[in-house]
Amino acid sequence: KHFRRVVQCRTDIEKFKAPFLAIFQSLVPAEEEKAKQKQLLAVLERLVFKEWPSAQLYLYGSCANSFGVSNSDIDICLAIDDRDNNKSELLLRLADILQADNLQNVQALTHARVPIVKLMDPATGLSCDICINNVLAVVNTRLLHAYGQIDVRLRQLAFIVKHWARSRGVNATYEGTLSSYAYVIMCIHFLQQREPAILPCLQQMAPTYRVTVDDIDCAFFDRVDLLQDFSAPNKESLPQLVWAFFDYWAYRHDYTNDVISVRTGTIISKHDKDWTRRIGRDRHLICIEDPFEISHDLGRVVDKHTIRVLREEFERAANILQYNPNPCVTLFEPY
Ligand code: ATP
Ligand code: MG
Repeated sequence: KHFRRVVQCRTDIEKFKAPFLAIFQSLVPAEEEKAKQKQLLAVLERLVFKEWPSAQLYLYGSCANSFGVSNSDIDICLAIDDRDNNKSELLLRLADILQADNLQNVQALTHARVPIVKLMDPATGLSCDICINNVLAVVNTRLLHAYGQIDVRLRQLAFIVKHWARSRGVNATYEGTLSSYAYVIMCIHFLQQREPAILPCLQQMAPTYRVTVDDIDCAFFDRVDLLQDFSAPNKESLPQLVWAFFDYWAYRHDYTNDVISVRTGTIISKHDKDWTRRIGRDRHLICIEDPFEISHDLGRVVDKHTIRVLREEFERAANILQYNPNPCVTLFEPY
C-alpha cells in the first residue's frame, strides 16, 4: 500500500517554488488586519484599566508570533494580580464588563483546560479569546516571533505546514492531533537541523532576554537583528524544505526513541526524559518538547489511533511532494 521509502528529492522540485510562494503570500494577513487587531486591543485595554488600573493586556499566539494566517482569532492574556480573587471570579467579572460595552457573544469558559472569556467585536469583526496570567504563552510567543525574524523560510514553511494541517484535519488537539504551536515548533526544530543550519538555537546562546515565570527560568538570545546572515550558507529553497520536512516526519523520524527539542537544538532521547511509557493519559507517541515547560510533551494529546492518522498524513504528503504532478494543489485537498 505504501510507496517505497523516499531517498532523494525529485529533480524538478524547483518548478514548484513560485506556486508555493504564492500560497504563502495568500495566507499572510493584510496590513489592515493588524490595524484592526490594534484597535480591538485598545478598546479592551480601556475597559480593563477602568476596572483594574494595574492590569496589562498582551497579545499572544498567532496574532503576535508572526505565524498567523489571515482571519485568525486573536489571543489575549490579561496579566493581573490574582492573589485576592480566583481565576473564575475574575473571568466572570471580565465577561460582565465586556458585555456591558456592546461586545458580542461574550462567554466565560471557566472550566476549560485554559479558562478564557470569548467575545466578538462587531466594530472590527474580530473574535478573540482572553485568558488570565498565562504568562508562559506570552513568553513562548516572543520566542517564536524571534525565530520568525531570522530567516523568511521559517515563516514560509510554517504557513504551508499549518495550511496543510488544517486542510487535512490534523490540527485539533481536542481530536488528538497537533496544535498550530506544535507544528511551528516542529518547523523550527527542522530548520535547526539542516546542514548548514537555517536557524540557530536561541536558548543556547548568551541570553539577551530573561524572565522567570512559574519558577521556570526563560532565557534566550532575542537580538535577532544581529543574526541576519546566520542562514546565508544554506541555499535550500522553499519546495526543497517542504519536501524534506514531510520526508523527515514520514520516513526519517525515530518515533520509538526520539524527542525533538528546540530548547537544545538537537534530538534528545525519550529514555532520558522518561517518556518511554504511558503515564496517565500521556502516551508520548510523537514527542515534541515544549521549549520552556520541558516536562511538557506537545505530542501528548496524540493517541494510538491518531498517531496512525498523523503518520499516514505525513506519508501522503511526502509521496505527493515526490511523485504528484501538481503537489501545490493535491497536498491541500480536503480529507
Ligand atoms: P492559530 O493560527 O491556529 O490560532 P496559534 O499560534 O494561535 O495558531 P494555538 O495552538 O491556538 O496557536 O495556541 C495559541 C498560543 O498558546 C500559542 O502560540 C502558544 O503561545 C500557546 N500554547 C498553545 N498550546 C500550548 C501548549 N501546549 N503549551 C504551551 N503553550 C501553548
Ligand atoms: Mg490562536
